[in-house]
Amino acid sequence: MAIINVVVEDGCTGCGLCEQIAPEVFEVSDIAKVKDGVVVSQFESQIKEAADSCPVSVIKIS
Ligand code: SF4
Repeated sequence: MAIINVVVEDGCTGCGLCEQIAPEVFEVSDIAKVKDGVVVSQFESQIKEAADSCPVSVIKIS
């Protein structure tokens, strides 16, 4: 299934792991956000890895 949307739900701890795994997609200051203008279909494997690795499972892909 192709990823068409990525969101970070409430509960992010700001650990920074998603940014380490997919720096093109996520940026973390206090909490993670998806960068503006990201073409998520270009980074599917990294996004899936970040979602699987997030310790509080707040990265949701659809
Ligand atoms: S990996 Fe999860 S908890 Fe850590 S910064 Fe990213 S979204 Fe937040």
